Amino acid sequence: MFEGLSEKLSGILDGLTRRGTLSEEDVNLALREVRRALLEADVALDVVRSFVDKVKNRAVGANVVKSVTPGQMVIKIVNDVLIETLGSDAQPIDLDAPPPVAIMMVGLQGAGKTTTSAKIAKRLTELQKRRVLMASLDVKRPAAQEQLAVLGRQVGIDTLPIIAGQTPVQIAKRAEEAARLQGYDVVMLDTAGRTHIDEALMAEMVEIKRAANPHEILLVADSLTGQDAVNLAKNFDDRVGITGIVLTRVDGDGRGGAALSMRAVTGKPIKLLGTGEKMDALEDFHPNRIANRILGMGDIVSLVEKAAQTIDAQKAQKIAERMRKGKFDLEDLSDQLAQVEKIGGLGGIMSMLPGMAKMKDQIASANLDDKVIKRQRAIIFSMTPQERRNPDILKASRKKRIAAGSGTRVEDVNRLLKQHRGMADMMKQLGSAKRGPLSQMASAFGL
Ligand code: GDP
Repeated sequence: MFEGLSEKLSGILDGLTRRGTLSEEDVNLALREVRRALLEADVALDVVRSFVDKVKNRAVGANVVKSVTPGQMVIKIVNDVLIETLGSDAQPIDLDAPPPVAIMMVGLQGAGKTTTSAKIAKRLTELQKRRVLMASLDVKRPAAQEQLAVLGRQVGIDTLPIIAGQTPVQIAKRAEEAARLQGYDVVMLDTAGRTHIDEALMAEMVEIKRAANPHEILLVADSLTGQDAVNLAKNFDDRVGITGIVLTRVDGDGRGGAALSMRAVTGKPIKLLGTGEKMDALEDFHPNRIANRILGMGDIVSLVEKAAQTIDAQKAQKIAERMRKGKFDLEDLSDQLAQVEKIGGLGGIMSMLPGMAKMKDQIASANLDDKVIKRQRAIIFSMTPQERRNPDILKASRKKRIAAGSGTRVEDVNRLLKQHRGMADMMKQLGSAKRGPLSQMASAFGL
């Protein structure tokens, strides 16, 4: 799902992260491409417009220089707006009502209502330990009731015995009564569809709703139909009132326009995704995970979140400035090490940055693991401010004193000094490097 959109967006945004600075023009240019990508993914025009406006306003107003690169910040903003557009929090099926809780499934013919009813029943039984009874209210299609019974047997869910000649409302009432008498927790009502919306269908849904008083009314819509699915949801909601949406066939939907527009246009949450024909091909809809799937940049997003929490931007900038001038003293090193510790150690940072796995060996050989970081900070603490600013004055007697003060040995002090010199050189090079994982790491620290 979302393959096409994902590829385009990550291409556009990836371009931004590689830049040290971003002008408003750069952002506008990128947003024009984002706009085109969303429209190509069949996202509703109004939704695209409001999406791009939100990103633009926030990007302009944001404290972008907050210890990450502007490009990374823009990615975070796009990610946040995506999540909001998708509906912010996951909204599972609500069973918080006296049993039997009725769930009414509505939608057009072939959207996947019957299949999804059985999938939901199976899931509620297996994961939430509910006793579920299913009933087909489709008296138009002769085989519909039998189809549900077959699926029921397949997944081990009871279905209401079929009585020929009953109306949908009579079946709904019988299902409710049977569920109450036999102690079922949930009763799933699978209604009839049509090939398109018509007045008779809507009237039938309203009638069933009145009789069954369902706690959830879930619209099942085929995501492959794109904006038609969104209009359908709006129509059903206006006429019948729905509590949520299940999007089916997302396994074949490379565009994702329906998923992205649904919430903004209808105001109703997508609750579940149908991801295949098999009975367990049903997923909860988590806006943050979907956003991650679309952008494929969760690593950078969490890096920005962590960095924003922990890193003091001004300090980082000052250090960066000093580094560029080749003045990376031991005080700066200590500050940097402290920040590395705060963000979860080097392991934490490396696991967040794409491509960093390759650097692991290099960093390990530089002896930069987290225990070493602690020891190094202790050594630096034992120095006088003058020594930290000017390590060249550290001769044998001073080194002995420092080693004793930090509970280490003179060799450790020597190793630290050597490492500091190496790092200062490396950092200087990084400052001028244009790309590569290490420069990403450096820019994450505002270097
Ligand atoms: P209904 O008329 O709305 O009850 O639709 P059905 O439940 O009979 O589904 C119609 C067809 O769509 C069946 O062949 C299902 O197996 C298939 N189907 C339903 N949901 C999905 C899904 O999420 N992915 C895929 N690939 N097929 C699905």
